Amino acid sequence: MPVYRAPVRDHVFVINELIQFEKYAEALGYEDGDADTIAAVFEEAGRLADEVFFPINQSGDEEGCKLDNHVVTVPTGFAEAYKTYCEGGWAGLTADPNYGGQGMPQVLGVMVEEMFTAANHSLFLYMHLTHSAAHAMHGWASQELKDTYLEKLVSGEWTGTMNLTEPHAGTDLGMIRTKAEPNGDGTYSIEGTKIFITAGEHEMAENIVHLVLAKLPGAPEGTKGISLFVVPKFLPTEAGEPGERNQVFCQSIEHKMGIKGSATCVLNYDGAKGWLIGSENNGLRAMFTMMNSARLAVGLEGSGKAEIAYQNGVAYATDRIQGRAATGPVNSNKPADPIIVHADVRRMLMTQRAFSEGARALAGEIALNLDITFKSQDAEAKQVADDFVQLMTPVAKAFFTDEGFNAANATVQIFGGHGYIGEHGVEQYVRDCRISQLYEGTNGIQSMDLAGRKLSINGGRAVKTYLATADALLALHGEDAEMADFVKPMLPALESLKQATQWIMDNRAANPQNTGAAAVDYCRLFGIVALGLQWVKMARVCIDTLAAGTDEADFYQNKLVVARYYMARSLAEHSGLLERIETGADPIMALAAEAF
Ligand SMILES: Cc1cc2nc3c(=O)[nH]c(=O)nc-3n(C[C@H](O)[C@H](O)[C@H](O)COP(=O)(O)OP(=O)(O)OC[C@H]3O[C@@H](n4cnc5c(N)ncnc54)[C@H](O)[C@@H]3O)c2cc1C
Repeated sequence: MPVYRAPVRDHVFVINELIQFEKYAEALGYEDGDADTIAAVFEEAGRLADEVFFPINQSGDEEGCKLDNHVVTVPTGFAEAYKTYCEGGWAGLTADPNYGGQGMPQVLGVMVEEMFTAANHSLFLYMHLTHSAAHAMHGWASQELKDTYLEKLVSGEWTGTMNLTEPHAGTDLGMIRTKAEPNGDGTYSIEGTKIFITAGEHEMAENIVHLVLAKLPGAPEGTKGISLFVVPKFLPTEAGEPGERNQVFCQSIEHKMGIKGSATCVLNYDGAKGWLIGSENNGLRAMFTMMNSARLAVGLEGSGKAEIAYQNGVAYATDRIQGRAATGPVNSNKPADPIIVHADVRRMLMTQRAFSEGARALAGEIALNLDITFKSQDAEAKQVADDFVQLMTPVAKAFFTDEGFNAANATVQIFGGHGYIGEHGVEQYVRDCRISQLYEGTNGIQSMDLAGRKLSINGGRAVKTYLATADALLALHGEDAEMADFVKPMLPALESLKQATQWIMDNRAANPQNTGAAAVDYCRLFGIVALGLQWVKMARVCIDTLAAGTDEADFYQNKLVVARYYMARSLAEHSGLLERIETGADPIMALAAEAF
């Protein structure tokens, strides 16, 4: 039987002890940002994840979704779990109180997402797309549209979707063909086919609110000619309730590798009625609001998967007996020792844990900066925070999901052949996690966003600030002998990141392929260094807490052991990545296309 217990203590550590959100809460206008409230919310979220989401994760995978006459049936228990989630107010946790939300900080919203998606990736997709749709409408829709839709999305009574992809247009959205004809009454008639639409059809909610990219007649070519529309499954009545059925139907659902409990739909828009969100031809900007929040949520799918993979790896490694410890039997009354005695098994568990705890800390810092971006009154602080979020979003999306997949894969390895068969439930994590590397923009595209656009905006202001802040952090702790194990290995790693950044900036003009050639390695290098910096900060907190005296000494001492592992092993990749980045595009592009 697979296991999962939300790591509530570690969430509390990140937000209350590492980030110390309480210090920011008042200035940001969060009345409920005190340490006790935060711990209580994590406790409740953990209970929901453990007791409601997780028990239907494996069965949801086995059962999958079914389509019959345009109606999608989700796995047993999903509708009840969705109802429990909505009744608990989780759908509107961070949403605007003007629309029925609880107005809680992002540090809560983001962190609980990790628990929910770890416990049940498929189920949480219905919720996270709703949250993203509400976020985009809040930012861009007219007051009238907000009044019609936001309360329903915030309560979870209606769910949301994002409709970008078409059969011939995935990454290159400039090629979409879905059309929007004005009806002359302020509404539009939407015509076209969207594919791969997550949560595109189901009966868990009274209505589904599709946010759809389409082109107006005579719109400019490419991405400059895309507009965003809201197209409900049922047209809202005057009273704001679901009314007449709109002309959008699910034609089929995909049979896919993983996330089988999530309905991935082909949607036909056949003259469906829609309303414009934002201004004409400005749809991609509005959609990016949705995608940025969705990208961080996808990143958490990766770190959440690493956590659940780790927990199952530990459970199996302490139970399964095979072979003897290299140092002599530890279980002399049994025919073999538990496999956790073997260094190779430990290596996998330690890598998973060092990543998962490091990623949680980085997610916490991103969430804090989201709170500052949304709520700070200080223009400069807002700009620095926004730069940080923009820079880190592709790192969180791509690096977290790559490592989440590696962690899930490592658990199959820990289980040996028993991991490959369905019985133990861990091969599901590999299948489920694979999509996180693909949707919301593939990890290759995320990496190019980082190495291309994000390094260039405002003359590289975001990355320069990031590197200077990292220098300052290492200088601050550099004189402290107790911090030497953490600061010393970070110095060359940070140097590699600086050198790689400079190399990309210096070499992109010489060969237009250089950025793409370096991008994936650069994003990984960025992620490895970013987690290293988190481990430096975590080490500081642990050393100080132990010095001050604590009755949880094991928790802090163990964290220091994991921090040392990260510095000794996970960080070591930096020099190889730099070396690869600096080879540029030539070795990659040298073979003629026809020679493949
Ligand atoms: C289960 C599932 C759920 C999904 N949910 C949604 C959803 O809810 N809404 C939605 O709109 N879409 C959704 N998608 C679609 C998803 O976002 C796309 O599949 C993804 O963005 C990639 O597009 P594509 O599959 O067309 O690949 P392509 O764009 O054809 O890319 C193929 C390969 O080429 C690479 N590539 C493409 N262009 C470039 C370039 N310029 N430079 C370098 N490399 C490039 C890509 O990185 C990739 O490796 C979902 C997909 C799946 C499978």
